[in-house]
Amino acid sequence: MKLNKYLAIAQALAIILIGLFFLNSNRKSESVVVESHPPAGNSHLLSFVRSAGIIHYGESLWDVFRKNHIIDADILSAVSEFKKIFNPRDIQVGAHYKLVQDSLNRLISYEYQPDITTVYKIKKDGSGVFSGTIENQPLVKKIKAVSGTISSTLYQSITDKGETPELIINFTDIFQWDIDFFIEPQVGDSYKMMYEAYYLNGRFVKYGRILAAQYCLSGQMFTAFYYNNQLGKGGYYNWNGQSFQKTFLKSPLNYRRISSYFSLGRMHPILKRVRPHLGVDFAAPSGTPVVAPADGIVTEMGFQKGGVGRYLKIRHKNTHFVTLYGHLKAYARGIKKGVTVKQRRVIGYVGMTGLATGPHLHYTFYENGRPINPLRINNISADPLKPEQVAPFQHDMMPLLAKLAEIEDNNYAWSGVLY
Ligand SMILES: [Zn+2]
Repeated sequence: MKLNKYLAIAQALAIILIGLFFLNSNRKSESVVVESHPPAGNSHLLSFVRSAGIIHYGESLWDVFRKNHIIDADILSAVSEFKKIFNPRDIQVGAHYKLVQDSLNRLISYEYQPDITTVYKIKKDGSGVFSGTIENQPLVKKIKAVSGTISSTLYQSITDKGETPELIINFTDIFQWDIDFFIEPQVGDSYKMMYEAYYLNGRFVKYGRILAAQYCLSGQMFTAFYYNNQLGKGGYYNWNGQSFQKTFLKSPLNYRRISSYFSLGRMHPILKRVRPHLGVDFAAPSGTPVVAPADGIVTEMGFQKGGVGRYLKIRHKNTHFVTLYGHLKAYARGIKKGVTVKQRRVIGYVGMTGLATGPHLHYTFYENGRPINPLRINNISADPLKPEQVAPFQHDMMPLLAKLAEIEDNNYAWSGVLY
């Protein structure tokens, strides 16, 4: 019979095609046949081949179709239809695609998935015409909680509960002005947090915001709530509406004038050579007190005869920042390496030790080890909530506070939708 003949040809073609695919995938492992349907009954003369792959560097949509042996006529109409829903130039390396073709290498459908939630799809209808659709799969947001007591490190405790370093960074960022997570945490400290987590089809995709965070540092409790303060600016506040985002004092002393600015090339007054000045010089009478511009720890003290003279360095609790104070006449009482200093504590006195023409403070501000201009640091506003905002804030945060109280300190893994 004529029908049987077609069927035999179609089956032979399908076998050859699958064979070609396996050869191809063995060689290059570029596309993988995930499923193939042999003809079922009399109504299907052709078999369908489904394949999936990722976009490789320099690969166009055209290349993907070519690689899968799609006939030219279908490539032309499929590409032109795809262009209506997506700019093919924006195709990303590593993005996933799925393709369905028949045993005659005619394209049935093509799906391009640049990210986990979006699928661009072109599909051939019954009359052989392609049409495109964009499908969005919404992420499901859940509010989760994690808590624990530190037996070795915070990192260990949180990763032991199956969470990633990303969550730990988000958590420590909230308290970066108050706690130096490199040195201060102690065995026995405890933490709690509630955070948003996004899921797709029941699988974790990404973290959202931390909504509430608590850290108990040697008995001292820090609790932060995320709050949008109606000016469109969100931030972390304690229960009294004070911001966790702290700032540096504008300068570490009362000075008369700035005698030298931050510059990458200036004539040195004594050396008479062009040298970068990677700090600011504040002229002030000898003996003027110098204070810590933010909380930190004294990490270095020393004397540089041909340079900054008697100096000290402070590493701040926001560990991106280190500050240096030079030409000091003397250190303040109690200032030693390893001592913790609070903002505004006197650390030393203006002098002219080292290479200096007159009494002044040389101040260098390092961000991640690189000197930056201290007069230009991004002192993000750390304003507390306005008095009239505090009551609405506390009202909004009440459910979070209650939930935090419910979470046990040890190995509690709570997951569910709170609101
Ligand atoms: Zn200087």
